[in-house]
Amino acid sequence: MPARKPPPVTKPAGGEKAAPGRAAKGRTIQNKTVKAGARLAKPLVARIDTTPEPVDPATLATIFSRLRDANPEPRAELHYINAYTLLVAVVLSAQATDKGVNIATTPLFAIADTPQKMLDLGEERVRHAIRTIGLFNTKAKNVIALSRILVERHGGVVPRTAEELEVLPGVGAKTASVVLNVAFGVPRIAVDTHIFRVANRIPLVVAATTDKVQAGLERIVPEPFLLNAHHWLILFGRYVCKARRPECPRCPIADLCRYPSKTVTPLSAGA
Ligand code: SF4
Repeated sequence: MPARKPPPVTKPAGGEKAAPGRAAKGRTIQNKTVKAGARLAKPLVARIDTTPEPVDPATLATIFSRLRDANPEPRAELHYINAYTLLVAVVLSAQATDKGVNIATTPLFAIADTPQKMLDLGEERVRHAIRTIGLFNTKAKNVIALSRILVERHGGVVPRTAEELEVLPGVGAKTASVVLNVAFGVPRIAVDTHIFRVANRIPLVVAATTDKVQAGLERIVPEPFLLNAHHWLILFGRYVCKARRPECPRCPIADLCRYPSKTVTPLSAGA
């Protein structure tokens, strides 16, 4: 009997790291089929067993109130001087840590904090300055190319629309959202791997792609919290609701979280 053609595979979204476990059989997650043996990101594993009700507005407000109380004035951990250096820092941070980017950009931005100064520095010196960051060859090219566009088309000023930002080399929707939110105060919630995980775990928004999580969050997060929601969620995911071992015993929203695999022992008492 001829072998049946396997069903299509749905990959984990948003650069989420694969969970250690494998799907034992082909399973359906929100109308999408996952091939038997396909690796599943942790948030997707949680969604197999439950189809959570949407979080109600009062609970949402409580969740963000507590995140705000824990960090009343959240700040980006990337170092920057102005909108241009923020843009460059975010471009350099793709697949790199903020700490690593800051080490490279502190001396770089001291001598090149405008597009024209970066052009004057030249690609070779930019490459040397960022050589400790992953993908530095491509990123140096992008920094020079986007600086040239800013000088030639925007008078050396970072544009304030997603459309204009997203055509710059190395700038995608996430980078544009971060720049709009942090530099210009636009209430956007750029979704990285931390926010994607946190949103699906609590859950605030259950979705398989970062775009859908961003759209969902921007739709449901109460207006008073919209501006800083990106920072609160990213820092919460980075330091509390961690990928491998969320620190649930010290989580300020543990009583409101419906993640079925909460950590039950404090970090110091656990493995
Ligand atoms: S209780 Fe645990 S899983 Fe839930 S949000 Fe807090 S740290 Fe994350």
